[in-house]
Amino acid sequence: MQTIYCDIDGVLYDWDAAANHILKRETGKTLTYPSPGWDTLEQEAGPEAWNQLWTTYVGELFTRGPAIQGAKETLKELYVHFLVTLVTSRPKEIEEITKIWLSQENIKFDDLILCGRHTSKPAILPEPPDFFIDDKPSNIVEAQKIWGLSDEQVFVFPATYNDDFDHPSKVKGWEEILEKILGI
Ligand SMILES: [Mg+2]
Repeated sequence: MQTIYCDIDGVLYDWDAAANHILKRETGKTLTYPSPGWDTLEQEAGPEAWNQLWTTYVGELFTRGPAIQGAKETLKELYVHFLVTLVTSRPKEIEEITKIWLSQENIKFDDLILCGRHTSKPAILPEPPDFFIDDKPSNIVEAQKIWGLSDEQVFVFPATYNDDFDHPSKVKGWEEILEKILGI
């Protein structure tokens, strides 16, 4: 069976929406949504609120957000045809919380790997997948460089914070991924 490595935040889970909701509530500040840059939310919220987000509100941070549109339906379909490994930069401590949300949303997968924020995905998973789905430009670049994946094997999931990343594998959303992988 062919394999798919799929990211979670920004691809399956709307982390930006969850973080924005909590930070807005706790700080009373106006925060830009969706986040235009990778660090925008952190800068707008300030260090104290940011730290609280990752401690006091960490459970809420990883469970109160919605699934990205089309993610659940598409993954259900892909799961029938592929071995699906969810590969995320979330820290190991978030594993149980991550599983709670995935089970809540009835998202099927074969394996879940939490790499931590400072480790590269190819370093943890030396075996290249057949397809790789991620929203972070550096992950896509590394996947192609280290795993040797072609433009047909990677999918850059769209987001405001990767708008300036010009890549032939940029897709519009889950429907396009399903069409490209399965032809449906
Ligand atoms: Mg992501």
